[in-house]
Amino acid sequence: MAGILDRGSLPLFVFKGIAVRLHWSFVLLPVYVLYSGLSQGMDWAMIGLRLGMVAIAFACVVLHEYGHALTARRFGVGTRDITLLPIGGVASLERMPEEPRHEFWITVAGPAVNLAIALLAIIAMAALGLMSFFTALLLGGASLFTNALLFLAGLNIWLFLFNLIPAFPMDGGRILRSLLAMRMPRERATRIAAGLGRGVAILGIGYGLYAGEPFLALIGVFIFMAAGAEARNVVQREHLRGITVGQVMRTRFWSMGLNSTVHEAVNELLSGGDTSLVVIGMDGLPVGVLHRNDLFGAVEAGRKDMRLIDLPPKPAPLVGPEADAHESTQQMVVRGLPLLPVVHEHRLVGVLEAANLSEFVKVKQAEAASRR
Ligand SMILES: [Zn+2]
Repeated sequence: MAGILDRGSLPLFVFKGIAVRLHWSFVLLPVYVLYSGLSQGMDWAMIGLRLGMVAIAFACVVLHEYGHALTARRFGVGTRDITLLPIGGVASLERMPEEPRHEFWITVAGPAVNLAIALLAIIAMAALGLMSFFTALLLGGASLFTNALLFLAGLNIWLFLFNLIPAFPMDGGRILRSLLAMRMPRERATRIAAGLGRGVAILGIGYGLYAGEPFLALIGVFIFMAAGAEARNVVQREHLRGITVGQVMRTRFWSMGLNSTVHEAVNELLSGGDTSLVVIGMDGLPVGVLHRNDLFGAVEAGRKDMRLIDLPPKPAPLVGPEADAHESTQQMVVRGLPLLPVVHEHRLVGVLEAANLSEFVKVKQAEAASRR
């Protein structure tokens, strides 16, 4: 996900040291508003008003994400950026603290911002005379300002409630997990929260299909998968506690010199089982990694005689066998690398790969089950 967000997004502004970016797919939203407005025969003033409402909604989403980001900062966790997607915002925190209390406050801060905005709008409406406001609304002739306040209040109450749905990756799922984790191990808390999240997602998918709302069903599928990913991540974290890279690395791996050609690499790809290779420099140390797709790209371009160093390989940090397995995996995921070269005494001794880690975790789980 982080990789997708990094590419195709447009920086909007920087506030409090955090960049707010617009993902390319966000363009779909105004295009949709414009299209549906025109096809319903709306005039331009009405379409302009709708676009204004979308802009206000996303301003509230940005404030919600700042609620998460600035609270995280208080606990010493930085935020890379805030990205806006057509379905909402994502604050890319460097990490989510494992201390349940910290996760609780960071997560609660987002919906709390929406509640605060809604309350402010309601107070402002009350100050303007709620009764006269409602009579004006019923009889027509409510001013644009009071209408805007009503919209702001309704929108933020909706954002508040929607985010509290107890399903990952919604805030409600994290709040539930952090509350449970104050009383039980984090792994078990995550399992329960993820299970509930999947239940909610299935209800959403069912309702979406029944009511003919494919968008809702799609969100349900997304939540279902996110809940599973969150659970797997935490289970892996628990099983990898105290495990070093040396214990989980693969010692049979694929490496080639930087002067080898794409042609030679493709031949080895066909005779071996690996999908990624480590490119070795003149000094015997890895200079980077290549995925088979990089090789296919060169073959497609008719460049089979190209040297591997000219592709070029993706630079990868070198880890030692004594490094922490989970932390090294996070580094690999954040950088979008298929594997990490493991170097000991100036020599490539193995590779760390996500598939290997999940095998390791499966073995650990099987061992734990046999003891029960
Ligand atoms: Zn949130």
